[in-house]
Amino acid sequence: MTASPTIRTRIAPSPTGFLHLGTARTALYSWAYARHHGGQFVLRIEDTDVARSTQDSVDQIIASMHWLGLDYDEGPIYQMQRLDRYHAVVEQMIAAGTAYRCYCTPEELDAMKAGQEARGEKRRYDGTWRPEPGKTLPPVPAGVQPVVRFKNPVEGEVTWDDLVKGPITIANREIDDLIILRTDGVPTYNFAVVVDDWDMGITHVFRGDEHVNNTPWQINIFRALGAPLPQFGHCPVILGEDGLKLSKRRGAVSVTAYEEGGYLPEAMLNYLARLGWSHGDDELFTREQMVAWFDGSHLNKSPAQWDPAKLAWVNGQYMKQADDARLAGLVAAQLQRRGAPVPEAGRLARMCGLFKDRCATTVELADWLQMYVSPVTPGEQDVATHVTDAVKPALESLRARLAEIDWDKGTIAQAIKATITEHGLKMPQLAIPVRVLVCGRAQTPSVDAVLELFSREDVLHRLRTV
Ligand code: GLU
Repeated sequence: MTASPTIRTRIAPSPTGFLHLGTARTALYSWAYARHHGGQFVLRIEDTDVARSTQDSVDQIIASMHWLGLDYDEGPIYQMQRLDRYHAVVEQMIAAGTAYRCYCTPEELDAMKAGQEARGEKRRYDGTWRPEPGKTLPPVPAGVQPVVRFKNPVEGEVTWDDLVKGPITIANREIDDLIILRTDGVPTYNFAVVVDDWDMGITHVFRGDEHVNNTPWQINIFRALGAPLPQFGHCPVILGEDGLKLSKRRGAVSVTAYEEGGYLPEAMLNYLARLGWSHGDDELFTREQMVAWFDGSHLNKSPAQWDPAKLAWVNGQYMKQADDARLAGLVAAQLQRRGAPVPEAGRLARMCGLFKDRCATTVELADWLQMYVSPVTPGEQDVATHVTDAVKPALESLRARLAEIDWDKGTIAQAIKATITEHGLKMPQLAIPVRVLVCGRAQTPSVDAVLELFSREDVLHRLRTV
């Protein structure tokens, strides 16, 4: 028996902002694929865009990966710490004749571009410095720092069987000799990505389909290096509700925004997984199930649409199952962020248990629980409708009873029952005005359970009607 090579996947974000939802989704697929096969998952930071890359962004990306539970086996590996390696590979390629120095100045390249545009031709490098057998190259100009270009094959085509999109073929004549090393010695994306995927033994690359057009270059560079080719899977873009590409201008696109928005990481993972992949009709599944099921098949070829209502539903399902003490910790953070007082942990957990069923997010849960820690202002209309003169005497006698009793749900329920009997009311005729005054809204879970979690003082104070 021959052992199959270890599956190794990676996510390679550029640290120029938060972890984007699309990147989080390909990170999830890469992670799940590695875990499914008992392989390894690597985090690589593609920081060669020096002007736009920041350590703050790296920290945010790592925090979001951690929050989502996408644990990596190696990394973060920073491209800017690997410059020596890229330079060595460039030198090898120049020696082997698969790359060459190009001394065209920016002005010459502009003139080349203008000429091509004027002639209605496709914009491409014209091969001035491309060495060919029998060709005499121009004399090397003094004082011009060269770039290094990849000598892309001119004939034939590049074909790969994309894990998501199926077979893709692009003719070599469509692509030109791309720059692999800039004058400042920093490699370009298409080159560094190949050296890294090769050095890191990456076997499967999942990424967004904006990279489909880069893949032929990358495959040609792998071949020029004699390096084994990984398999590629290009996931379609995520569309916003308006059918356009999900973008910052039209709503939250970072994982951080959803963390702050009160979503649970397991719900986010579940939702992101389904956005572009399916396992039968399953809508809700655990991280373990996803790992067990994710074998690279059933990835959607067509773009998925971001659906906030569905995400809220998924999150609501996880909220219902979530441990009360855990929710209390999350709600405490939300309340703190608002500058609101935070109830004692045990009491806050009981509040979460009482209200979590009706909340899509921990932000909504904090909205509900705010009434326990801050004064409420009942709506005028609610007061006029429900806190009528006819019911005020009953509210006063309830108040008197509540002042005396042991403060627990059962005894509070008895006090309410005794009051409605005494005043000949039906339960809602008393319970609704109590809710309006104490909670600031007419509908809540069972009123005795709700009241029990207030302090007696707060309830007596809010029930005062005169
Ligand atoms: N840095 C690239 C990006 O963020 C990585 C693409 C790739 O996975 O090859 O789009």
